[in-house]
Amino acid sequence: MNSTILEAEEHVLSTLEKDGSRRWLRPKLSHGRLLTLRRVVAYFLIAVFTLVPFVQINGKPAVLLDIVRRKFTLLGYTFLPTDSLLLAVFAVGSLISIFLLTAFFGRVWCGWACPQTVYMEFVFRPIERLFDGTIGRGGQPKSARSNAALRWGFRYAVYAVICFYLANTFLAYFVGVDTLWQWVRQSPLTNPVPFLVVAFVTVAMMFDFCFFREQLCIIACPYGRFQSVLLDRNSLIVAYDKHRGEPRGKAAKSRSVALPVLDSTVDPPAGDCVDCGLCVTTCPTGIDIRNGLQMECINCTQCIDACNTVMAKVGRPPNLIRYSSQATDAGEKFSLFRPRVVVYPVILTALASVFLFLLINKNYFDAVIIRERGNPYTRMENDLIRNVVRLKVTNRQDHPMSLTITPDREDVLLGLAEPDFKLEASESRVFHLRADVADDVFKKGRLEVGLTIENDRKQKTKVRLQLLGPLGS
Ligand code: SF4
Ligand code: SF4
Repeated sequence: MNSTILEAEEHVLSTLEKDGSRRWLRPKLSHGRLLTLRRVVAYFLIAVFTLVPFVQINGKPAVLLDIVRRKFTLLGYTFLPTDSLLLAVFAVGSLISIFLLTAFFGRVWCGWACPQTVYMEFVFRPIERLFDGTIGRGGQPKSARSNAALRWGFRYAVYAVICFYLANTFLAYFVGVDTLWQWVRQSPLTNPVPFLVVAFVTVAMMFDFCFFREQLCIIACPYGRFQSVLLDRNSLIVAYDKHRGEPRGKAAKSRSVALPVLDSTVDPPAGDCVDCGLCVTTCPTGIDIRNGLQMECINCTQCIDACNTVMAKVGRPPNLIRYSSQATDAGEKFSLFRPRVVVYPVILTALASVFLFLLINKNYFDAVIIRERGNPYTRMENDLIRNVVRLKVTNRQDHPMSLTITPDREDVLLGLAEPDFKLEASESRVFHLRADVADDVFKKGRLEVGLTIENDRKQKTKVRLQLLGPLGS
């Protein structure tokens, strides 16, 4: 080590050595009931992540985030650019749901369902173990294996193929599988932008899963940073039972079964923790759960499986490390109804009501009259008074519509400057509307006319048009 570098007294981050260099984590896999369960969940989720772009609901994709056209389809409902309020309520509702889930179940998302954990722990690390056979935090390959360079090359080739596949799946969420399938059969030069997006995402995933790894959870992901405010004392956490485990120490030989770290010269410890360190070497974020609740803990439960295996070997009861809560650990009574688990559902109910109200009362299209500047009206040759106004119509649906316009007075003649009165899906367009009326129907120079605008699905909206005419009439 360079002697000019001041060493920190303790590790600042589990992924940093004291001199600030990277501490590479190579967590040892700990088999157990929870790992089996997580594996089932992970493979199920990988199948879901892959298949969702193919799923259709009512002829629409289940999920399609069309950023270019600013249209987001979720569970068969399409949010258009004109639905920003609906989308905002939906987004806030999703956020509060995450808060509620975290208040009850802690970081269950991180450990069980986050794509970062799922792919890292159940795809990339198994491949790494297959090629390198590494064990333990910062450990070297289990044995000096032959053909190290070849193994390295194969491992990264497999990573690259998986990342390329994942990048294409990722793109399918934004463009749809049909478009993607069309693109992949064409030359990259035909569609350079999507090709570059896939290339960029592939490289970003390679960087993440090969280099950045657990640092994404520890220093980059905001969810982990918010843990301290999202959890309360009764939220589910992975915790070490200090009262049972301490004082920790090596187990007596007679109490162990083939634990390599055991030391027969040490008296049996009063606590159940035999200080074997397996909960640390198995941790994918490199922390020691015996130091208490830490922001780096993603609740992956690997330390539970590791410790249960050790407890079984030394003949002590399981669950020295287990799912618990800060309140339970402090000997307090578990409380289901806390302020936040009451407040969050109340907010969620209010948001759901607002969402439904907006959805039910959603206009199929909007129409606004905008008066032209300058001359308020024109007297035509046949003594008709002509007003020209602009009519801005916005289609709030995801299909085209043809429109008709009808005045509530028979003596008003309407005409459009445009050849058609049509709108594409979610299009907003300005039409120029002429309204001709005889000059003797104006009162004090004004005449109010109601206009009914109707589309080809018989959906209507009404606007008021203030016509201006000669004062002397
Ligand atoms: S402390 Fe345990 S639950 Fe938390 S990240 Fe490490 S192994 Fe997973
Ligand atoms: S795995 Fe269990 S026994 Fe071993 S050090 Fe961790 S808490 Fe102690």
